[in-house]
Amino acid sequence: GSSGIKSTSPKAQARPISSTASHPRKVPVQKSSGHSKVSPAVRSQANNVTTSRPIQESGGGYDAKLVEMINSVIVDQGPSVKWEDIAGLEMAKQALLEMVILPTKRRDLFTGLRKPAKGLLLFGPPGTGKTLLAKAVASESDATFFNVSASSLTSKWVGEGEKLVRTLFQVAISRQPSVIFIDEIDSIMSSRTANENEASRRLKSEFLVQFDGVTSNSGDLVTVIGATNKPQELDDAVLRRLVKRIYIPLPDANARRLLLKHKLKGHAFSLPDRDVESLVAETNGYSGSDLQALCEEAAMMPIRELGSNILTVQANQIRPLRYGDFQKAMTVIRPSLQKNKWEDLEKWNREFGSN
Ligand code: ADP
Repeated sequence: GSSGIKSTSPKAQARPISSTASHPRKVPVQKSSGHSKVSPAVRSQANNVTTSRPIQESGGGYDAKLVEMINSVIVDQGPSVKWEDIAGLEMAKQALLEMVILPTKRRDLFTGLRKPAKGLLLFGPPGTGKTLLAKAVASESDATFFNVSASSLTSKWVGEGEKLVRTLFQVAISRQPSVIFIDEIDSIMSSRTANENEASRRLKSEFLVQFDGVTSNSGDLVTVIGATNKPQELDDAVLRRLVKRIYIPLPDANARRLLLKHKLKGHAFSLPDRDVESLVAETNGYSGSDLQALCEEAAMMPIRELGSNILTVQANQIRPLRYGDFQKAMTVIRPSLQKNKWEDLEKWNREFGSN
């Protein structure tokens, strides 16, 4: 997904980052003193988007540069994704509402047995709205959204993945409520293999330590959401911690109808209901992002017909889209996932999924 969410201020629970990385919770909340050793850049960044309490450094436990990077690169401050922007996926939405959104709004009700899960997994074919859902969850619960892609953990900070994970959780705690979204979580948290390299082994165990830290402190509102289309490859220890596993399937006929209508909104098109229904039937197996690509391809057809007239034509004279445009587009845009692949996912869902 490319659209982001608005990052909103955490309120009373926010805590500054302390230097005692391994026992962050034993440190009392520090008040802003104005004498912090944090560089002005870090402080102004923290003040901009978080609380009046700057993130303070009390002795080298974290890397100020890394904090700055997390605040600017990983914290997603784009426009928010709304629940309504996501077509279908009603079951997943309901589960996320109960698990993440309501607990942040009614902390008093969600204690003891109702204590919300801190880790969840969204699994399913690519392009089905997992990222969108995670973003919507963050914006609906006014949480800071940390968008971590596996490649950013392994490539951008080569050799520093472990430190990055530790700092990431510290920043997430200081800016809670927070949602840490880890896309392609399988690629960094895959089951241990014999030839696994040392750096990735350390990154993984650091993740487990940090995750257990936020889980054991019931005061922390930090939710980790992993996304994958290869749940079979996830490490057992990680899977155990992502207690709720929500299957995000390919859109069914209803969802495809909604998606198509949604994508075509605002475009002149002359498709009688009958044609829409044929399209819905013919796009069985297409993901949300395949449908997006299909509509984009179809929308180009009237433009291509113009030839050199494109430079002079009036915008309101472009002909509306027709069924034939979509038929042509379907020869170019094919479903990106093979059927046997998603059958595997359904099988995994029956065995390990929560819904
Ligand atoms: P994933 O994280 O599952 O790979 P994304 O959430 O990034 O997929 O979705 C990719 C794009 O596909 C979105 O930006 C959106 O345009 C479209 N899309 C996919 N699923 C949906 C959906 N259920 N509702 C609306 N748009 C969707």
